[in-house]
Amino acid sequence: MADRISENLHDKISARLRFYQDIGIDLFYRNRTAIASPSRTSPPVIPSESATPATISVVEEYSETIETVIVADSSVEESAAFEDTLPRTSRKPVLPPAPALQVPAPPKIVLPAPKSGLFDATEKISGDSLLKIRDDIGDCTRCKLHKARNKIVFADGNPKAKLVFVGEGPGRDEDMQGLPFVGRAGKLLTSMIEAMGLQRQDVYICNVVKCRPPENRLPEPDEIKTCSPFLLRQLDVVDPQVIVALGACAAQTLLQTTRGISHFRGQWQEFGGRKLMATYHPAYLLRNPPAKADVWKDLQMVMAELGLKRGAKSTSAGKPA
Ligand code: SF4
Repeated sequence: MADRISENLHDKISARLRFYQDIGIDLFYRNRTAIASPSRTSPPVIPSESATPATISVVEEYSETIETVIVADSSVEESAAFEDTLPRTSRKPVLPPAPALQVPAPPKIVLPAPKSGLFDATEKISGDSLLKIRDDIGDCTRCKLHKARNKIVFADGNPKAKLVFVGEGPGRDEDMQGLPFVGRAGKLLTSMIEAMGLQRQDVYICNVVKCRPPENRLPEPDEIKTCSPFLLRQLDVVDPQVIVALGACAAQTLLQTTRGISHFRGQWQEFGGRKLMATYHPAYLLRNPPAKADVWKDLQMVMAELGLKRGAKSTSAGKPA
């Protein structure tokens, strides 16, 4: 059978078989189980002269299989060697504790100061006083809100307060009593003030318009324009350290913006050289109690600015006489 293959091919097969024997791989092509787990200790000696074309084919197929096994085996060894080079902590990595969930802070929105600030545009009256402002208002008929009002609601609280709350306008209860924030929303505002460690008489409370809009609608632009100069004079006379604008109407009027209050509430704004915090109106909180959390955050910023502590009954919220 040896004479059925060329001498050249015979030499190639013989050389290949010797190569496998030299590297310790047995020729187990007749035993597939052995192929899967080649022995390197007892290489069989296959007489090269017994090789036939069929044998050659099988040998070549087997050779490819063995080479695959060798490559796979060496890659495992390389992998293990690489692992040995890693620091011990790298082999079984200990994951760091998960970082606390970071909630990105909302972008800070500081409204641009209007070219001609409402406060700056208001004519300063020498020797102005709250009494004089009230006298100037008189039995006002300057805008259409006078038609349905019962009482003009000027203000309430400490005329020397460091903190002023500004609402939009009187409601039914306020219109009847002539005092701001005395209805349900007013009671909630009083609770908020007390939560800040203050009493209602420690702060100054007023509105953008002094007369009740019919059906508790929002004041209209012409009404705001007509009445707001009185508010600005009040703020100038009281001269608070901090102004809290309650609701969109007050915030938009003082800051001269049409942006929704949710865009800039909770962030300090500047008004006439004073700090202004816009937050939700107590009437809105009655309809939407979850928003109280936002308002409390805003008020805490105000407390920090004024050096107030929750629950501490303050008797010094007003400026020295
Ligand atoms: Fe006068 Fe103001 Fe009353 Fe209008 S809302 S009538 S401007 S006090």
